[in-house]
Amino acid sequence: MIRRAGFVLGLLTAGTALGLVSWAWRYRVSITRTQRLLAYLRAADAYAAWRIPARARCGDAPFLTPTEGYIGYLWGDAFRPGHRHTGIDIFGGRGNGQTPVFAAYPGRLYRRADWRASLIIQHDDPLQPGRIIWTYYTHLADEQGHSLIADAFPPGTEGVPVEAGTFLGYQGNFSGRPGHPVGVHLHFSIVRSAADGHYLDERRLANTLDPSPYLGFPLRFDQVPGDRVPTCPHAWQLEAMGALPGPLVWPGFERSTP
Ligand SMILES: [Zn+2]
Repeated sequence: MIRRAGFVLGLLTAGTALGLVSWAWRYRVSITRTQRLLAYLRAADAYAAWRIPARARCGDAPFLTPTEGYIGYLWGDAFRPGHRHTGIDIFGGRGNGQTPVFAAYPGRLYRRADWRASLIIQHDDPLQPGRIIWTYYTHLADEQGHSLIADAFPPGTEGVPVEAGTFLGYQGNFSGRPGHPVGVHLHFSIVRSAADGHYLDERRLANTLDPSPYLGFPLRFDQVPGDRVPTCPHAWQLEAMGALPGPLVWPGFERSTP
């Protein structure tokens, strides 16, 4: 009995140690990525070559890129123990309300009545037809939570059809807590649905999908070393879809939405 308890304890200890080692490895990759990101944010225009273009297709990927900028964090990155990043973070390198955000794929757009900075679009999965997936876009508000979402999608929007490349709003820095801004960026994730088609909780990695096959280039944390710039290995095909909306006048930008 004692021997068995010792065996179980040994297994548990080995499991914990393995968990710690794998977390430490992921965390180290993310630290390197953070150093790169800070260099970019200090002098974004000097690193313009690191940016991906907006509304661009990598090879024959099903999704368009949802915004322009440097991809600072990838799917699965670990910032702190027990946390994994559920999407990718694209940093435009400009201020609030200056870098437009677009739908990655055709679908139906929803915005909950209490969402200041977020939108979600329901899609038929192009890689697994018949399956419902969602693309989630967040940080589309200023640091106080004033929305930077396009007027076409007010709070309470339910199932409005959008095309790939539809203008959704602008990158912002709202963290969810007024007065505690994050860097100006778009968080973009692909969310699984429950059996009834409703989206699952986006904050859990298991409820999200690796965006790499949808955007056509490596975006999983362990596919891209921390000192490498995530980008399309092929030529980008830019979608011709009319003029981009002009940048917002900022500051002094007012919206009626919360
Ligand atoms: Zn993010």
